[in-house]
Amino acid sequence: MRIGHGFDIHALAPGRKLILAGVEVPSEAGCVGHSDADVVAHALADALLGALSLGDIGEWFPDSDPQWKDADSTRLLAVVVDAIRKRGAAIVNADVTIYLEKPKLGALKGEMRARLAQVLGIDGLRVGLKARTFERFGAIGNGEAAAATAVVLLDDGQEAGG
Ligand code: MG
Repeated sequence: MRIGHGFDIHALAPGRKLILAGVEVPSEAGCVGHSDADVVAHALADALLGALSLGDIGEWFPDSDPQWKDADSTRLLAVVVDAIRKRGAAIVNADVTIYLEKPKLGALKGEMRARLAQVLGIDGLRVGLKARTFERFGAIGNGEAAAATAVVLLDDGQEAGG
């Protein structure tokens, strides 16, 4: 078994689409980035890469690559999932926390979980997704940024200690 952890944060700006876990969230502001700046997809991709010691998404998907300009980040996540599988590993479960002051995400969490399960190729019951505010502290609490953390467990097909 291998565990991986990922974190991502992006600035929020008016007029940008807010995309979280591949789902467009109705919002006055969205994340700024080279791609669609989906902090959930980015944190999950880093967690998967970390679990197999494969580096980070900055190495896999450089900002300088026009291919990922305004890209749907679930495509980037799918590339990582495919790379994990090709190395003989299977995703056991994933757990995500989104940090966002507003809007409230309650109504969209089911759709986000379903989308992540689809991209990860696992049952929705193996995807945890929580959303919380930052209690008005700091950049996230002021509505200037959105962030996500992710943890994944992989079965790498090796015996314990192997
Ligand atoms: Mg990012």
